[in-house]
Amino acid sequence: MKELHRFLGSAGVRYETNCLLSSHSSFHIGGHATLACFPKTREQMLAVLNKVTQLGVPFFLAGNGSNVVYSDRGFDGLVIFTGDWKELSISGNRILASAGTSLYRVSVAAREAALTGAEFLYGIPGTLGGAIFMNAGAYGGSMADICLRSEYYDCVSGESGWLEGAAQEFAYRSSIYEKDPRYTVLGAELCLTPGERGTIAQVMDALMERRKASQPLEYPSAGSVFKRPEGYFAGKLIEDCGLKGTRVGGAEVSQKHAGFIVNRGGATAKDVQELVERVRARVLQETGVCLECEIRFIGDF
Ligand SMILES: Cc1cc2nc3c(=O)[nH]c(=O)nc-3n(C[C@H](O)[C@H](O)[C@H](O)COP(=O)(O)OP(=O)(O)OC[C@H]3O[C@@H](n4cnc5c(N)ncnc54)[C@H](O)[C@@H]3O)c2cc1C
Repeated sequence: MKELHRFLGSAGVRYETNCLLSSHSSFHIGGHATLACFPKTREQMLAVLNKVTQLGVPFFLAGNGSNVVYSDRGFDGLVIFTGDWKELSISGNRILASAGTSLYRVSVAAREAALTGAEFLYGIPGTLGGAIFMNAGAYGGSMADICLRSEYYDCVSGESGWLEGAAQEFAYRSSIYEKDPRYTVLGAELCLTPGERGTIAQVMDALMERRKASQPLEYPSAGSVFKRPEGYFAGKLIEDCGLKGTRVGGAEVSQKHAGFIVNRGGATAKDVQELVERVRARVLQETGVCLECEIRFIGDF
């Protein structure tokens, strides 16, 4: 860790020791990471990835922390936050952007360039890298539909390159990046379709209204807790089991949308974990459906 420390200082990468993860999580949950860094450029990102690969230091690559529950005990290693590396350019109907670019910025840039296809990203509070990792999707669209190719860094060989089309192995809430931890996302090229700016804006506004009407955006959360089981909706199963409003400590199954767990104040990662287990057990017992988590638990549990 000491060598990493020295390296970050000499490479001019902003870093923080004993970084409070709850400040970087949409759930507002999590203890401290031993070390955190915030690369701002491609050169800094590659330098950091090369160094951790070479040193064999445990690390976690974080986007906006909108799909994770950080352990109350934090993370013993380096957390690399990508959010300060936000480069975006448009050429014709293609958008090229770095991993840390927010989905908000991607969708707004597409709208301004009168390109359709990225409207569904509006309102998903993540980064491009996080969205490719788990093939984020909403309202009938997903990253698989628009991601022409993505640039990877291979944490085993230290090499980078591009994966095109089917090689990215997109599936429901999954991709090659989610399946194989050796690959991380450096950026991507999205392929959109020319459209009409006013219509694109209308679609984005309508989707945002649907979100506000159905999701508990007034409380911290990590979005949908569970993947959609085939043939069912997780939220509906949970609601039908009478679990809306169930609480463990500060964590609560949302009254507004049973597929969300919200932090009603002071929730710990342990509270969320226990509530998740209660919900899964009850749904399995009453319906026979085994719910699988979409949110990811990071650190020691
Ligand atoms: C209110 C709310 C609404 C949401 N709505 C939706 C929705 O409609 N649809 C949807 O799909 N999701 C939704 N989410 C979940 C979340 O926003 C998405 O999963 C998003 O893609 C996560 O991106 P992130 O940058 O925050 O990733 P993080 O939460 O920081 O990380 C998630 C995972 O991605 C990995 N990761 C992040 N960046 C990279 C990278 N560059 N390379 C490799 N791996 C990486 C991390 O290691 C981690 O395993 C919602 C969340 C909230 C809080």
